[in-house]
Amino acid sequence: MITIQRSIQDVAAEVRACQRCVLGRGRKLAVPGEGPAPADLMFIGEGPGFHENEQGRPFVGPAGRFLEQLLASIGLTRAQVFIANVVKCRPPGNRDPMPEEIAACKDFLDEQIALVNPRLIVTLGRFSMARWFQGESISRIHGQPRKFGEQWVYPSFHPAAALHQEKFRTLIEADFLRIPDILDRIEPVAVSQALPEPVEEEPQQLALF
Ligand code: URA
Repeated sequence: MITIQRSIQDVAAEVRACQRCVLGRGRKLAVPGEGPAPADLMFIGEGPGFHENEQGRPFVGPAGRFLEQLLASIGLTRAQVFIANVVKCRPPGNRDPMPEEIAACKDFLDEQIALVNPRLIVTLGRFSMARWFQGESISRIHGQPRKFGEQWVYPSFHPAAALHQEKFRTLIEADFLRIPDILDRIEPVAVSQALPEPVEEEPQQLALF
């Protein structure tokens, strides 16, 4: 049997036409995510807000401007990283995404992760964190990379939280400043490797973190 791997653009095209959940009906534009594939770093936020829904691009509003500043603090631009969300369409009024909406988008995110094949995934906020770190508190585990199967995941706060509360700004800035060092310490992921399902096995903590 011949398996033809889809491209990141194929996934984006399917997202743009998606009607798998109610969010597809209320959106203006779906927001598949953007960036190079493969890429060393992948950032996963929660879901599109007002500006993202208008433009069809992730993190283009105030939270996005702060994300760009955070990337600049470690010498990166958004063009160098892949930026995605747990849900690809804006929840009405920016409410939290529902479990069934997250589930409807899961295959898209799985496929994006497999195609981007990042050395490190940075989760931004509790909804993307929950994909790996179930039942854990972001305040306790942010800034500590952990390996799930072959995938290193680094939980941090959502940039929007920092826009509302100064204490989160300091924490997220510090989390970002550690990313280059973490990337230096983790081994590259084999190019052909697809993302395994999040696993239940004992998580492995990076020494010294
Ligand atoms: N917040 C998110 O979680 N994602 C975006 O794309 C924008 C704001």
